[in-house]
Amino acid sequence: MVYCSIGHVHFPYLANRFSHTNIKGIKMKQKKQKKARTKTYWKKKADNLWSEIIRERVCRCEVCGRPGQFTKQGKQIKGLNAHHLILRGNLLWRHDLRNGVCLCVYCHKWSPVCCPHGGSIDSTIGFVDFMKDNKPEQWAWYEHHKDIRKTPELTMEETYNYLKELQNTGEVLPYSERVNKD
Ligand SMILES: [Zn+2]
Repeated sequence: MVYCSIGHVHFPYLANRFSHTNIKGIKMKQKKQKKARTKTYWKKKADNLWSEIIRERVCRCEVCGRPGQFTKQGKQIKGLNAHHLILRGNLLWRHDLRNGVCLCVYCHKWSPVCCPHGGSIDSTIGFVDFMKDNKPEQWAWYEHHKDIRKTPELTMEETYNYLKELQNTGEVLPYSERVNKD
């Protein structure tokens, strides 16, 4: 028991209990106010992270060699795009790191000779030839997987968290294949 300067009796342990309750109450309120994240939110997060990993592992255009520029965070990924070999609409491979090629914007969208989204037959053929000649293993993977469609095992939030793990470990394999291997 303690006495304050004007003689009131204070019970420090009670004061602690009350302040503890208050803090707990505020924290619970904050938690309630936090919005539940939607599937779209996690899909976007996973999209961005997938793209970041593809770009940060290469740091240059895989076709023309143009290097990426540095972001404020010191990552050499600016001015680069992560291209999906199998279209993004196929969710099974959308966040598979084997499905990505790091390209500069020009080689991704404009080059008339070698470009997956160039809009001409010549540019598309040029890109396919480039892949076959320079990245034959990845192209073979694409050929074997492009027609397979299944619902992914992980939710978008889990996919994001799994990609975070791959980003930290430098690994490539998707969750489904890692689990089956173990
Ligand atoms: Zn390029």
